Amino acid sequence: MDQVMIITGASRGIGAATAQLAARQGYAVAVNYRHDQSAAEAVVRAIEADGGRALAVAADISVEAEVMQLFETVDRAFGRLTVLVNNAGILERQMPVAQMDSGRLARVFAVNVQGAFLCAREAVRRMSTAHEGPGGAIVNVSSMAARLGAPNEYVDYAAAKAAVDALTTGLSKEVAAQGVRVNAVRPGVIRTDIHASGGEPDRVERVKAAVPMQRGGEPEEVAEAILWLASDKASYVTGSFIDVAGGR
Ligand code: NAP
Repeated sequence: MDQVMIITGASRGIGAATAQLAARQGYAVAVNYRHDQSAAEAVVRAIEADGGRALAVAADISVEAEVMQLFETVDRAFGRLTVLVNNAGILERQMPVAQMDSGRLARVFAVNVQGAFLCAREAVRRMSTAHEGPGGAIVNVSSMAARLGAPNEYVDYAAAKAAVDALTTGLSKEVAAQGVRVNAVRPGVIRTDIHASGGEPDRVERVKAAVPMQRGGEPEEVAEAILWLASDKASYVTGSFIDVAGGR
């Protein structure tokens, strides 16, 4: 049976690195994105040039109808899903909680929490033996922020990632006897464009001195942990977390 992986938010950063590694390991990869079609198509072209199979699929994961369409498109293109990587995530400008308005909170929770839940639901409906599925794996991309709290930067984002951790723990127990494993990675500071959304593109340079390994991480280093959790090498691992954070 083909191994089929959906990676949300795979047009750049950790998602794009995961897509390229997954394709090299033989997965047919759905490269989901929200706005940046040309970046997503560039990821697909790079995979195809390497001999792999990939498809770019637009969908805002915070919108239920778009999530349903994403999964249906992948059903038709590649057949039954075997792995979901719940990777898409956003943060907004650094500020203390005292300055956060409700619009920001709604956006941050809609993508990071509701989006992860909706995608996990669609994955379980396809993978779980209780739904006549063959089993599978879900890997959630949380953050060290869930444990550190991100004070004065984005406590909202940290709280949303703590919800992703609870989703990982709870769902892993719900579907453990249905052939579906659910795990998470918690990246530390990784060199991607996400820091620009927080208003500090060079954040990695500022905070790296506080990382025991004294450097930021690369997206490819997170991708390795994601691919291991997704693989049969992790066959007895569920409800687990791998911190990919240089010792932070
Ligand atoms: P990034 O470079 O900002 O990339 C984010 C990706 O998510 C893009 O492909 C973006 O697509 C997509 N996306 C955003 N909102 C979306 C939505 N509503 N629906 C579908 N796709 C959406 O981020 P990254 O640093 O690689 O982060 C990936 C994951 O790792 C996130 O969950 C993030 O919270 C987590 N993380 C990152 C770090 C870090 O230091 N970089 C640390 C801890 C955790 P478009 O460009 O098309 O909008």
